[in-house]
Amino acid sequence: MQTTQAFPSKLPQVGTTIFTVMSKLAADTGALNLSQGYPNFNTDPVLIELVAKAMRDGYNQYAPMPGVPVLREAIAQKTARCYNVTYNPETEITVTTGATEAIYAAITTVVQPDRNAGPRGAGPDEVIVFEPAYDSYVPAIELSGGKPVFVSLNSPGRSEGCIPADAVDAPRVDTPGSAIDWDVVRGKITERTRLIIVNTPHNPTGYVWSADDLNQLAGIVQKYNLFVISDEVYEHIIFDERTHHSLMQQPLLRERTFVVGSFGKTFHTTGWKIGYCLAPANLTAEFRKVHQFVTFSVSTPMQYALAEYLQDPAPYEALPAFYQRKRDLFLQSIRQSRFQFVPSEGTFFQNVSYAGITDEPDYDLAIRLTHDIGVASIPVSVFYHERIDHKILRFCFAKDDETLLQAGERLTRWSLSQ
Ligand code: PMP
Ligand code: GLN
Repeated sequence: MQTTQAFPSKLPQVGTTIFTVMSKLAADTGALNLSQGYPNFNTDPVLIELVAKAMRDGYNQYAPMPGVPVLREAIAQKTARCYNVTYNPETEITVTTGATEAIYAAITTVVQPDRNAGPRGAGPDEVIVFEPAYDSYVPAIELSGGKPVFVSLNSPGRSEGCIPADAVDAPRVDTPGSAIDWDVVRGKITERTRLIIVNTPHNPTGYVWSADDLNQLAGIVQKYNLFVISDEVYEHIIFDERTHHSLMQQPLLRERTFVVGSFGKTFHTTGWKIGYCLAPANLTAEFRKVHQFVTFSVSTPMQYALAEYLQDPAPYEALPAFYQRKRDLFLQSIRQSRFQFVPSEGTFFQNVSYAGITDEPDYDLAIRLTHDIGVASIPVSVFYHERIDHKILRFCFAKDDETLLQAGERLTRWSLSQ
């Protein structure tokens, strides 16, 4: 007789991601889905035609392991154009299966379980993670035997100092100061610290790193000889005339950082799962050793299409205005509500505080609103390892105008009825 063996989990704390849970619930209930971060509108038909053309032209077999040369060249040109920084397409640019694979491969490349680390002896590499944090970082650290060390951002969801919803027409006030307390970061560094993970613009808070944040980080990286992964998938979704400061623009950071990008966000193609990693040659050589056994190579016709599409900067240059209008449409639509918010600085997410309406746990409320009023969101507590509940919901505004207006109307009506 066969018995079921106890199977030891490598990720005992992990369940199905909240994005899958909420999107499924939204589909099952027919709710407006402002939860998982993806557009509900199509990509540019020009880009679709370029994929079809690449397929017709016979680009249907394995791509080279680091990515097709024309795409790596196009990424190098775009990077130089946007940030005035040079990467060698041959040795410093790798095309990946979305940002997720790039992040996983970079963490796997750097993090070791029992590196001999000075007076405390062998022990796991420690990785500084800012919370709230995107959900893929910590499991990847743990699968490599590393230890995440958490630093909270000052303003969860940039929600402290939230402005009332009806003040949305008021002149924009920046939340003053950095969301990062650099003294706290310095206090968490030990001789085992190996890596810091950065995400700017930040999911879910929308925080955009300042030039001073970069300088602070550079000082720490230099002093303690650390590496950095910079998740910059929202580089082109940034508002109110702000500038995205890529970590590559800080010369010292450029030499120690894996900069991760994704075409999913930039070209409304999250389902294509194509991203890339920029890193100095010595880091890229090690990164590719991992990448080649995670996925080997990435969809060929998509790469050729993107290489050609990237020749025109207009589509990504239009993104700030495109998404700022959507953010403002959504905010206007809840301006008479009892929710509170600070307008998102970047990304296609808006955090909204319901602390003045109910003290229900955010997870329960996200589920309840999906059922009761047909609007799905993400409870921000899921971005904290201790599930800290600041009474904030995250709404994705990468949606057509009608969906945003309807969601805003339902949310407003609900808030006023409480
Ligand atoms: N990083 C962040 C901050 C994200 O929000 C996402 C997903 N939207 C990713 C990485 C993953 O990107 P991709 O879909 O290209 O794997
Ligand atoms: N990044 C997307 C979000 O934050 C989700 C991506 C995913 O589902 N893994 O909503």
